Amino acid sequence: MKNSEKHRVVVVGSGFGGSAAAALIAEAGIEVLLLERGPWRDTVPTRAMNIPERQPFPRGWGLYTGFLRTLNVPYLPGGGITFNRRGLFELFYAKNMEVVCSSSVGGGSHVYSAVHARPPNLTYWDNVSPDLSEDIMKPHYAAFFERMGSATMTPERIPPSHVSRRFADSRIVEIAKPRVEVRVGFLLPETPGRPERKTGPHGIERYEVDYTSGDYGFLGDPSGAKTTLDVAYLAPAMKAGLEVRDLCEVLAIAKDHEGNAGYRLDYLDHRTGRRVSLQADIVVLAAGTMNTVKLLLHSRDRTHTLGEMPALGQRFSGNGDVRGLWDLNEKGTDLSVGLPSQGSIKLLEGDEPRQALSNNSVPSVDHYPFPAFVRRRLKRSVVIAGMGEDAMDGVIRLHKKSLDIEFEPDNSPVYARIMQGFKTLSKRSGRRVYAFARPATVHPLGGACAGRHQNEAVVDGRGEVFNHPGLFVADAAAMPRSIGVPPTASIAAWGSRVAAGIIERLTGRHSL
Ligand SMILES: Cc1cc2nc3c(=O)[nH]c(=O)nc-3n(C[C@H](O)[C@H](O)[C@H](O)COP(=O)(O)OP(=O)(O)OC[C@H]3O[C@@H](n4cnc5c(N)ncnc54)[C@H](O)[C@@H]3O)c2cc1C
Repeated sequence: MKNSEKHRVVVVGSGFGGSAAAALIAEAGIEVLLLERGPWRDTVPTRAMNIPERQPFPRGWGLYTGFLRTLNVPYLPGGGITFNRRGLFELFYAKNMEVVCSSSVGGGSHVYSAVHARPPNLTYWDNVSPDLSEDIMKPHYAAFFERMGSATMTPERIPPSHVSRRFADSRIVEIAKPRVEVRVGFLLPETPGRPERKTGPHGIERYEVDYTSGDYGFLGDPSGAKTTLDVAYLAPAMKAGLEVRDLCEVLAIAKDHEGNAGYRLDYLDHRTGRRVSLQADIVVLAAGTMNTVKLLLHSRDRTHTLGEMPALGQRFSGNGDVRGLWDLNEKGTDLSVGLPSQGSIKLLEGDEPRQALSNNSVPSVDHYPFPAFVRRRLKRSVVIAGMGEDAMDGVIRLHKKSLDIEFEPDNSPVYARIMQGFKTLSKRSGRRVYAFARPATVHPLGGACAGRHQNEAVVDGRGEVFNHPGLFVADAAAMPRSIGVPPTASIAAWGSRVAAGIIERLTGRHSL
């Protein structure tokens, strides 16, 4: 095993928390190495960035080989199967919960619907820890919205598939007013209806959104119209010296065994198959809720290279997510075009529960290797979803080589409310909603939460693991509460907050 490298800061994972943290630290002039297990994706912007090796998003027959990276099932002999190390999604299957996450340079930003929102709880960050408050977090949200070019939809930019157009005169549902201001991370056309190719800062090319296409959703957007983290955060930070190593999967973390400050990281380079070991003064974990918790549990309980963390794995939240497919099947409609998120509806007064249900397109349908009648049907369907604050009382545990999640949906009224909403909607509309019977979340949160002390939390208000100086958690695993709306703005704001603390410690300079 090679053991020669020393780094000042190593960030693990390039999603919302990791990209925000790595970019801000590198732009402050500090040496940063970012390790990401997934590949760079092949897009118009990454071509302009001259990234030499790029993995296409799964399309056509590639959907069968490139869709799934890893399936984690604790009850299988090996704890799961990795099908393709360049695959797009990872699934965690547990007793009462399924979790979907992804794998790419840029993390979940390639598969997300690009909905940006602040938590509806206006005191979300207050009373979590003495180092944390709404006031402290405010500039970090503002920085995220600015960097991602988050846009508010104006009436002339609202695509035809949006609920405000489709259900304006409906007698079964009304348009739900969002609980918080919702913005979208898309390059919207300057002239509506006339999308153009644009060259932005650092010579990066992107297309504006074309509302006659539906290629922007969970299968990735090759055109660059969706604002992804590789473009908004990593490209400028790489100009400032950030080093990104793709296809490098961190396996374990160890407190320096020679008694020095800092940590040793072991990672697997998927390109060469070699295991590499390196030293870092500061390690920032941002591998997403499931993989950050897995790395910490594995390093504490299997390799015995980290110390006690009594609250590790506790307070997992599925963000109240429930999803279904609403088989609207109206002849002559194509609901797959436009933006992936089409707004929210709710049942009319008297049809309780009036839980808001968001409509999302089924994206990229023309690229599925399915018979024409199946594709036609999918274009006339919407992915309908509900979410809300849950009890955040799940527990993540190591189980063989995988993770198990103990979760009781009955403890959180939000799940029954959404399922009942689906049933009533189905009855009123006369069109079936096919839903999973158990929660399946794309917004996993918690497990290494921020808080006051090690008996209730894993990290403090600056993201540093209690009793582990120099080890930080900068992603969704550290969220102190369930959020109940799409969480990326909060996760990136947290990554930025963690970075600001590290910059202050290393340079004495206050950044945000
Ligand atoms: C289909 C879908 C649609 C969504 N839409 C929205 C939306 O519109 N708005 C919203 O706010 N949220 C949305 N989300 C949720 C959002 O994507 C996640 O909440 C967010 O990506 C989590 O950020 P993160 O930084 O915690 O982790 P991630 O973004 O998941 O990033 C973690 C990264 O770490 C890498 N990694 C994992 N393990 C290792 C390891 N051992 N070594 C090195 N690297 C590793 C992973 O490959 C990944 O790239 C959506 C999610 C999905 C799946």
